[in-house]
Amino acid sequence: MSKIKVDPSQEQQAIVEQLSALGIPYQVEKQDDVISNYRKGKKNIHVVPKKGESMDTCATISDKYICCNVKVLKSVSNCPYDCSYCFLQNYLNDGTTKVVGDIKSLMDEVKEKCAAEPDRFFRIGTWELGDSLALEDVLPQARFLIEEFASIPNAVLELKTKSDCVDSILDAAHNHRTVVSWSLNSEYIVDYQEHKTASLPKRLAALKKVTEAGYLVGLHFDPMIIHEGWKEQYKALIEQVIASTNPDQIAWISLGSLRFNPEMKKKIEQNFPASSITHSEMVKGDDGKMRYVKPLRIEMYDVFLSHLKGCLGLDDISPLSPIKKSTPLFYFCMERWDIWQRFFGESPTSIQHLDLLFAQNFYERFGQNIPFPTIENYLSK
Ligand code: SF4
Repeated sequence: MSKIKVDPSQEQQAIVEQLSALGIPYQVEKQDDVISNYRKGKKNIHVVPKKGESMDTCATISDKYICCNVKVLKSVSNCPYDCSYCFLQNYLNDGTTKVVGDIKSLMDEVKEKCAAEPDRFFRIGTWELGDSLALEDVLPQARFLIEEFASIPNAVLELKTKSDCVDSILDAAHNHRTVVSWSLNSEYIVDYQEHKTASLPKRLAALKKVTEAGYLVGLHFDPMIIHEGWKEQYKALIEQVIASTNPDQIAWISLGSLRFNPEMKKKIEQNFPASSITHSEMVKGDDGKMRYVKPLRIEMYDVFLSHLKGCLGLDDISPLSPIKKSTPLFYFCMERWDIWQRFFGESPTSIQHLDLLFAQNFYERFGQNIPFPTIENYLSK
């Protein structure tokens, strides 16, 4: 069990009261030393107040790439898991695992920002600095957020996880305004690079449970990593994932390849000496991140997309094609126009255009009770 400390201002919050009810020990503290080592910080959870603005645009957004313009709600910082490629090892100055106690204030900010732009459709995730559900068994936030999002007319919550912690949300009143997403990888990568996360069979069992609970789901095959037998492993992964859900409930699917800042290479090699993920040939992109060389990325995406289309029974998975009820919104994460054009013959013209495509797909497939998406409301932002 991790050590839990609670900021004095958070003692009356429901998630702290639940700790007492469950008999989970915690300590109220006034002043904490900054924990600079992100791994040490994983063992120390602090329940903290909301400070400043918590809803923002995803930090990796770059106009050199076709990004998706997802918004993020900073409700957690750091993560109990230990993936070798995790950018947090190079990002967090204060490695303490933090969970915002005052989740009502978080929702007040979300509601205010969504109300200020009533004609836009917001996708809002809680995973930017951690995992949306990994701490749910100890400090539950998700159910409250799900039930609050259920009544926001122009937003959907995305909970993205590598856990199987879904039992506490199965009977929440989600109103189809929460997408429960998984970061998915081959069984080999899960076992050897995504330390302490739920195994692939456990993630798939959790995916099945939320599908049966009527949630919309998201699938993020990211980062794809070259390893022995990768083609067969990724094909098997696609088959297992599609068999564990209902394609009509898949809101979106993303695909991306391994990438990291050059300075992170050393950190990965220090923190994970047995890992070989930094050994492949990589090139620096316009955003300063190292990636596999383009022919290799194309080969990976080609193998993946061909098989995905076959398993979904679709000839065309382009997000730019006319929307069909059975076609999830597909997108590449942090790829340039040329990769989109290579696979679809065209690409979104901008970040705002891809944001609009998300809204149109959601509107057509899941609910005409979100604002009708018009070009003006997206391209001008
Ligand atoms: S689950 Fe995500 S946030 Fe947690 S260690 Fe892995 S990559 Fe990092």
